[in-house]
Amino acid sequence: MTATPETKHVLIVGGGFAGLGCALELARSGGRVRVTLIDRHNYHQFQPLFYQLATSQLSVNDVSFSLRRICCDKKNIDIKLAEVAKVDPQTRSVHTKEDENYQGDYLVVAAGSQANFFRIPGADANTFPLYSLTDAERLRSRILALFEDTDRDPKLAEQGSLNFVIVGAGPTGTEMAGGLADMIHTTVSAEYADLAVTAARVYIVERGGTLLAPFSQRAHEYASKVLQRDGVQLRLNSSVTEVHPGHVVLGDGSIIKTRCVIWGAGLMAAPIANTAGLPTGRGGRIQVEPDLTVAGFPGVYALGDCANIAGPDGKALPQLGSVALQSGKWAAKNILADIEGKPRRAFHYLDKGIMAMIGRNAAVAEVGENRHELNGAVAYAMWLGVHLALLTTLQVKVETFVEWIWDYFLQERGPQLLDRSDAARIDWYGDGTDDKATAAIAAATAAK
Ligand SMILES: Cc1cc2nc3c(=O)[nH]c(=O)nc-3n(C[C@H](O)[C@H](O)[C@H](O)COP(=O)(O)OP(=O)(O)OC[C@H]3O[C@@H](n4cnc5c(N)ncnc54)[C@H](O)[C@@H]3O)c2cc1C
Repeated sequence: MTATPETKHVLIVGGGFAGLGCALELARSGGRVRVTLIDRHNYHQFQPLFYQLATSQLSVNDVSFSLRRICCDKKNIDIKLAEVAKVDPQTRSVHTKEDENYQGDYLVVAAGSQANFFRIPGADANTFPLYSLTDAERLRSRILALFEDTDRDPKLAEQGSLNFVIVGAGPTGTEMAGGLADMIHTTVSAEYADLAVTAARVYIVERGGTLLAPFSQRAHEYASKVLQRDGVQLRLNSSVTEVHPGHVVLGDGSIIKTRCVIWGAGLMAAPIANTAGLPTGRGGRIQVEPDLTVAGFPGVYALGDCANIAGPDGKALPQLGSVALQSGKWAAKNILADIEGKPRRAFHYLDKGIMAMIGRNAAVAEVGENRHELNGAVAYAMWLGVHLALLTTLQVKVETFVEWIWDYFLQERGPQLLDRSDAARIDWYGDGTDDKATAAIAAATAAK
């Protein structure tokens, strides 16, 4: 595109739902703006389906999409593969790890979330979070490695090789538990003839008293019933207090031996949200005004998971793909209004409801602002339909649909690739004395 002196430059950090949504909306503005979209990955990630990648149901191509390909026909979007190290909101500029500077008339911070380990000793070093494509691939390799190692040496089951511990029973933890239980009952049972699959245990440890806290009581009960039917052990009102390479310690002092702890217990804003000198609140998220700008920093917007966006009741909206996408599109409209000298409008979130997958033929959905409740096969079909519709290209929609049909009718999983050797290598015979949790716990004990 040919930029004129009137063309404004919008700099966006993050090509997730929020940043990409903003860029694509701005792309429709004709020649009024040019956009530079910076992301540390050359792909957009579809986090809601990560648990299906981790449980070998979908492949990498189904949950990540080339940013250049998505934007290739948008002549006013320039993609830059770079990691932003520093944000200067006063000058609306960023400095990257690759030692480059970018400056815009507008700066949009949409850098998403990272895992929050709440300083639990060992959680950072010894758990598998599920917030990036790499996380999901590493977890898949660890799960497959555990089955392979135990198949070769069944005695490893005594060391907890077939125990999977999921920390947190929100949508991420619950979907992961259901996906893992399904995988154990279908593919693993069919493909590992010598493995004592019945010894496999999936645990969910949750500090609160229910699964799927944002959902209704009926959904809590339904999810508990389905997961328990599928053999998942629920440890509610219980917290993980230490994570070691070979076991976790719970609040009551009990121990679960395991080599696979999956972290779904909390989120906080991406690091650059905290180092930018912008006002932050809960979870280190950037405080935004109703129009998604940041007070005191003209031309700066914060969106999606890395922003605290107030809902109609004044409480922060949840970290959801729908909130991120809608906030991205809304910010684009406000930027265009600003350029035209028109007033910016306060963000209004259109709440279409929430849903979570629990297992084969089992999901919960609460539809619309009035939260019409559905569960079972109808909610399951709705979940598949909604997620299919959200996928980026027709090719990916078709491929994903085929993978789901294949899995549903033939009970055969997609790619079972053990391709991350760092996550697959397990030190079965080490004593764990060099791990960070042991050191931190020893230091805390010595200080008493
Ligand atoms: C496992 C899981 C399941 C989920 N399931 C659902 C669901 O079913 N329904 C739902 O609505 N929501 C779900 N969510 C939440 C939803 O995915 C998020 O709310 C949404 O992705 C947030 O979008 P975002 O654009 O704010 O951030 P993200 O999608 O995280 O995008 C942030 C982008 O910023 C980039 N970035 C970060 N830091 C830098 C940097 N320093 N330099 C350059 N680039 C950077 C990242 O690479 C990333 O591409 C789920 C989330 C997870 C993790």
